[in-house]
Amino acid sequence: MSSTPTQRFGTLAVHAGQSPEATTGAIMPPIFQTSTYVQPAIAEPLGGIYDYARVANPTREALERNLAALEGGAHGIAFASGLAAIESVLKRLSAGDHIVSEENTYGGTTRMFTRVLSKLGLEFTFVDSRDSDAVADAMTPRTRLVHVETPTNPMMRLCDIARVAEVAHAGGALLMVDNTFASPYNQRPLELGADVAVHSTTKYLNGHSDIIGGVVVVDDEDLAEEIRFVRKSSGAVPGPMDAWLCLRGTKTLHLRMGAHNSNGLAVARFLQEHPRVDRVFYPGLPSHEQHELATRQMTGFTGMVSVDVGTLERARALVEHTQLFQLAESLGGVESLVSVPSLMTHASVPREMRERMGVTDGLVRLSVGIEDIDDLLADLDGALQG
Ligand SMILES: *Cc1c(COP(=O)(O)O)cnc(C)c1O
Repeated sequence: MSSTPTQRFGTLAVHAGQSPEATTGAIMPPIFQTSTYVQPAIAEPLGGIYDYARVANPTREALERNLAALEGGAHGIAFASGLAAIESVLKRLSAGDHIVSEENTYGGTTRMFTRVLSKLGLEFTFVDSRDSDAVADAMTPRTRLVHVETPTNPMMRLCDIARVAEVAHAGGALLMVDNTFASPYNQRPLELGADVAVHSTTKYLNGHSDIIGGVVVVDDEDLAEEIRFVRKSSGAVPGPMDAWLCLRGTKTLHLRMGAHNSNGLAVARFLQEHPRVDRVFYPGLPSHEQHELATRQMTGFTGMVSVDVGTLERARALVEHTQLFQLAESLGGVESLVSVPSLMTHASVPREMRERMGVTDGLVRLSVGIEDIDDLLADLDGALQG
């Protein structure tokens, strides 16, 4: 069944981009595990595009149509990782071009910007994009792109997408939003005015912690063509098996996100009342400083919850005593994970910058899974008693 934009999210998640396979009627898109395609005549590939699998692969295309529909965009372009997806958008630019980026992005994104792309002549200014005036002030006549992430990792800071889209456009730049933490179930940046939505599909979209992948979703045809050209020229394509796994993941995105949202909120409320927890960072709590913005631009608040338990010793004790919450980086899978950002994901960030962003030694990040909520709360309560 092919899908139309009038269908609702859960229907799109299951069906968008897929139709029964032509030869057998197989209901699931086959894994086209091939590097090349036989051409009926010289330079006349079937379908006009199937000449080589870096350029075109039907399993990957089914995933791309599905993800584009979920993000409310016309074009999806899948990549081998989230970082490759983000990089492709910057590779459209030229030496001397300027990018304004949120300072509290995923660590790997900042590392790519400061240690790889800046060597090639792209110039970056890092700002706190909670403040749209700070974004406006950082813009120069050479600014071509504004890159934000909302909510951010691990402080759950928000950026007002509609407002910052206006700022970017007023300065002649595009706005790219890393929507990995929210997922399109909770937030759709393109509908709020962004030009590019990007994901690490490794996280909520695939949702089962068994692939690395990324996607760029855009509405503009020319922009899509440029990004496809970068991908064809640079080569960071996902394999067909990974594309297929991600497509299977998105079939249950709405069900999983519903469970992540309700478990995340329940964990945040529980920890907020817990005597051994100093602070909880969760956009769905009225105590979050941008809760009003959260309710305006998001429809749910995910399973990502950060808490400050005061000291590194207490953070260590917590993560070493949970049974269900397993100690690991990454997020967005069905299983609950716990990490200590200051020693793990953000260890490479200088202490002063880390603390300015609120990434204290006592900060613990939870990726709340879809297990039974009573078991999750009991696990946290037991670990907090030490
Ligand atoms: C994980 C992550 C990335 C990087 O994605 P990979 O798939 O690991 O390359 C980028 N942005 C955010 C917000 C992430 O969580």
